[in-house]
Amino acid sequence: MSDALRVLRRVFGYDAFRGDQQEIIDHVVAGGDALVLMPTGGGKSLCYQIPALVRRGVGVVVSPLIALMQDQVDALRALGVRAGFLNSTQDLDERRLVEAEFLAGELDLLYLAPERLRVESTLSLLGRGSISLFAIDEAHCVAQWGHDFRPDYLALSELHERWPDVPRIALTATATEATHSEIASRLKLQDARHFVASFDRPNIQYRIAPKNDPKRQLLELLRTEHQGHAGIIYCLSRASVEKTAEFLVKNGIEALPYHAGLDARIRAENQARFLREDGLVVVATIAFGMGIDKPDVRFVAHLDLPKSVEGYYQETGRAGRDGLPSTAWLAYGLQDVVQQRKMIDGSEGDAAHRRRLGSHLDAMLALCETVECRRVGLLAYFGQQSTACGNCDTCLTPAESWDGTVPAQKLLSTVVRLKRERNQKFGAGQVVDILLGKKTAKVIQFDHDALSVFGIGAELREAEWRGVVRQLLAQGLIAVEGDYGTLVLSEGSGEVLGGQRQVMLRREPERAPRAAKSSSSAGTKSGRAAAPVDLPPEAVPLFERLRAWRGATAKEQGVPAYVIFHDATLRQIATLSPSTLAELGAVSGVGENKLAKYGEQILETVAAAEE
Ligand code: ADP
Ligand code: ZN
Repeated sequence: MSDALRVLRRVFGYDAFRGDQQEIIDHVVAGGDALVLMPTGGGKSLCYQIPALVRRGVGVVVSPLIALMQDQVDALRALGVRAGFLNSTQDLDERRLVEAEFLAGELDLLYLAPERLRVESTLSLLGRGSISLFAIDEAHCVAQWGHDFRPDYLALSELHERWPDVPRIALTATATEATHSEIASRLKLQDARHFVASFDRPNIQYRIAPKNDPKRQLLELLRTEHQGHAGIIYCLSRASVEKTAEFLVKNGIEALPYHAGLDARIRAENQARFLREDGLVVVATIAFGMGIDKPDVRFVAHLDLPKSVEGYYQETGRAGRDGLPSTAWLAYGLQDVVQQRKMIDGSEGDAAHRRRLGSHLDAMLALCETVECRRVGLLAYFGQQSTACGNCDTCLTPAESWDGTVPAQKLLSTVVRLKRERNQKFGAGQVVDILLGKKTAKVIQFDHDALSVFGIGAELREAEWRGVVRQLLAQGLIAVEGDYGTLVLSEGSGEVLGGQRQVMLRREPERAPRAAKSSSSAGTKSGRAAAPVDLPPEAVPLFERLRAWRGATAKEQGVPAYVIFHDATLRQIATLSPSTLAELGAVSGVGENKLAKYGEQILETVAAAEE
């Protein structure tokens, strides 16, 4: 057995390496440089933690996520790994202590904020110790313009000159090819071995639903599938964050708001509670979640359309790091398209910049309107080929496509008539009312019932018409402009009107698809209890007891619950009900240190549940 595998089993309590882990670890242990691209939850941390434990000296980990360093170090210490960190949140005494440990060779891993490495005193400290490797986490920071940490990351390219013999491993979950090559060149890692994992997250179920009454739809999702689960809900504006959080609280779901307008202290507190407590929901703007390494986030919901597929992928990727079934749910409607187009038109920057934003939005819309597997579309966007996944809404409830050429022509001609005959422009609402032949006050006011197109669209329902508008927008066959999102012809409209182009549209499924394996039966009616995913019913009571024990233990130690044990580990214990330490030690996630520390307590909890 290799040293690395021995460490994996003894310290981390895991049986086997996943994916490329083994190869990456062997390469770094042997002193090679590596650039690792792996999705969130893929298991990047072990790729540097294990080499640091196997090689002589201290592994130096550069990470911008200062707020999470304490938790990361706590998690390692709970495993019996000697870890410490240096960043600006510490006072001088704390710093001195860590420095002394480092120099005395009493650390396996030292976490550093990137700006520390630009300070000569840190460099000279490192020079006096023995270093096993440099790990550069969140390496995409070096590649992103406007990124706060970019200058500090750029300076990291010099590590190689100062420590030519120390291997470097850079890691990121950002998938695009452009970022990948920029990281390699900026960090001078061209000669490093590149490891590119599949970006698929098979345990995440992707679902995109037409938006009707989003808060209600969300509540339905939480009540039927995610009762008592931890999750993140993204909204575009601060106001909708506040409103959504209030709405959920009123409906018995513990939800905390998070946005840049909140007092920094409240923000930090809400984030800490989310990380530490079981089953909390955070409603946030996209400012929330960078580097959140909570493993048991069971769902990520978007109430507004993300601006790009990258953003969507990164945000949804925060679900299910522990590999257990999780949901990525997005509600999207016509208004989203109107609003985003408006934001792009009004954005600062030149025409090229706006075009770029526009193409990001188009890619996102294409993903929303596809009749193919969502995952196939998502991975294709990142340049990876795959086949229909069986775990997204279009796979579970295939969407039919239908020939919408005639309705599209009717809609476009209504826009044309309004312009030609009346010199008017209107938004989708009025155009659809005209098509349906509705004599609303506004239709009468503008005498629109006299138009020849009035009432020519009775074959579709209003929701279907809105779907037609949305999809034409997504396909660029119509455009919106101005504050009110008035409809205007686009370059592609002419071909449709002239009959040279067929328009294929997605028919909305009648009922919203459900998770293939719903866990709703395990949930309780309200509050934050229970609802473990995919657990045999007879194991639920024990799982609940173990969770309660874990909650109390975590509180006592002031660490997040997952630092004690992950849900996946508790589920396995609940299913096996071990009666000896040896049996317990065989459970994935129970290493030597945790077995010694918690083994007896767990066995007592198991025994008590059987009485
Ligand atoms: P990343 O940093 O890539 O997002 P992590 O390193 O946090 O991912 O790992 C994600 C989860 O997978 C963690 O809960 C980790 O303990 C677990 N994990 C990683 N490697 C293995 C393995 N070989 N066997 C079992 N669990 C693993
Ligand atoms: Zn699919």
